[in-house]
Amino acid sequence: MRYNVSQLLLSPTGTSSKFQIESDSEIEDILVLGGLTVSMYKMHEGIWVDILGQGKMEAICSRCVNEFEYLVDIQGEQQYISVLDIDPNQGLDVFLIDDRHELDVQELVRQSAIVGDNVKKLCSDSCRGICAQCGIRLNDSVCECIERTTDPRWDALIELTKGEI
Ligand SMILES: [Zn+2]
Ligand SMILES: [Zn+2]
Repeated sequence: MRYNVSQLLLSPTGTSSKFQIESDSEIEDILVLGGLTVSMYKMHEGIWVDILGQGKMEAICSRCVNEFEYLVDIQGEQQYISVLDIDPNQGLDVFLIDDRHELDVQELVRQSAIVGDNVKKLCSDSCRGICAQCGIRLNDSVCECIERTTDPRWDALIELTKGEI
């Protein structure tokens, strides 16, 4: 995800350049989906980079311990300054454009996805979890312990059914 910005650096302040990354790409544990938009704006000092897109991440459901995928928004912005222009006393809250005029948006994409990662760690709202007694995954099977784990409100009904058998 490196881009040569020598052309943009020579352009007047305010010049912008916008493009999309068409293919999926992987950054650590994030699958960045194709269609990620990268916008660059020439600033008085350096380049402002804006990214917008979506990614997929994997998580472990905290109820049933299954792995599942969920979507995250990737949305972030960052100023990049050329290493050649940087003032050594300046705080390093900027990202660098290297001495070949290349900037790398990978770290920005990674950080932006994590900021947006506030998803509850459940594979689905209706996840039935794991039976506390036999450990079976209740999303895909039913176990024999069902009577003990039912909602107490069903007890009366269960009693009725027993009477009929
Ligand atoms: Zn689950
Ligand atoms: Zn069970």
